[in-house]
Amino acid sequence: MTRPAADRPDEFELIAELFAPLASGCPGALDLTDDAAFLKAEPGFDTVATMDAMVAGVHFLPDDPPDLIARKLVRVNLSDLAAKGARPAFIMLAAAFPAGTGWDWLRSFADGLKQDVEHFGVSLIGGDTVSTPGPLTLTLTALGRVEAGRGVLRSGARPGDDVWVSGGIGDGALGLRAIRGQLSGLDSADLAFLAGRYRLPTPRCGLGRRLPGLATAGMDVSDGLVQDLGHLCRASGVAAEIEAGRVPLSAAAGRAVAADESLLALVLTGGDDYELLFTAPPASAAALAGLSAEAGVPLFRIGRVAAAAEGEGLVTVRGGDGRALALKQAGWRHFRHAGQ
Ligand code: ADP
Ligand code: MG
Repeated sequence: MTRPAADRPDEFELIAELFAPLASGCPGALDLTDDAAFLKAEPGFDTVATMDAMVAGVHFLPDDPPDLIARKLVRVNLSDLAAKGARPAFIMLAAAFPAGTGWDWLRSFADGLKQDVEHFGVSLIGGDTVSTPGPLTLTLTALGRVEAGRGVLRSGARPGDDVWVSGGIGDGALGLRAIRGQLSGLDSADLAFLAGRYRLPTPRCGLGRRLPGLATAGMDVSDGLVQDLGHLCRASGVAAEIEAGRVPLSAAAGRAVAADESLLALVLTGGDDYELLFTAPPASAAALAGLSAEAGVPLFRIGRVAAAAEGEGLVTVRGGDGRALALKQAGWRHFRHAGQ
């Protein structure tokens, strides 16, 4: 369908009308009227920067509601900042819109951005807007702050540390199945809950910014718990053993796995969780319980860090009978999709 010309906003109208209002919290963004934004360095703090791209058909469904696409884009990035112990401050958006994207779609997209800009207390300080003959492609950069030298890295885990994760794991991967109609045996409330967790994850910002000083290493779970724990282990030069039965499942995910045991592998490896995975010495357990209550996010101890042993896998997942589970795939990889 061709749209009337007036429905096709030009780049400058779009920036002035829809994006500039989201810059109001940052004077240095100059209402998006200049070439670049000016940020004041904050003495005593490190600036933490992260970027995530989302492509229609890969990270979200092309007909997903535009406001939810925008909010997911913000949230997957803030999840990375949370994992590093940082408070979010600024975002920058590079958007490649398919030619012919209309005002209604863009307005709804900007509304979603505005909701989360306000909710998480960040400012949109710049970006770029182009049109593309390809699928909608959105790239967001998020900048945050953490006390200098206290950011949580992947590389600090030590043998003897506990492995912790925030709950619950698997909702996102199950939610995508639910949206695709590939999940049977659940009622509509469970299906809606899981789909909601896929479309609109909750970055654990309150938890993350309390982790410096307690977590020895940490990351967010975006590509699958087992694969991501493997990344953390590799960075730290350690191995880890977790118990499948301790991995926290939402009520809906629990019912999905009870109805079809084979979904446990999807829960452990599926990704799109945006929960925090971290390690801490056992002596920190009581402090972590307090922090979990403060942040209002449940935390679960799912295993233990061990020394890496030659010729053995970095991550072992034990089932209820104590035997190691054989998982075909540890998690999601771009460029090497399942079945290839
Ligand atoms: P230039 O051509 O000098 O790179 P642009 O015309 O692309 O500048 O952008 C003008 C201003 O609008 C800049 O401050 C830029 O950061 C901002 N901007 C452009 N696109 C976006 C966007 N998608 N989100 C936020 N700010 C944007
Ligand atoms: Mg310029």
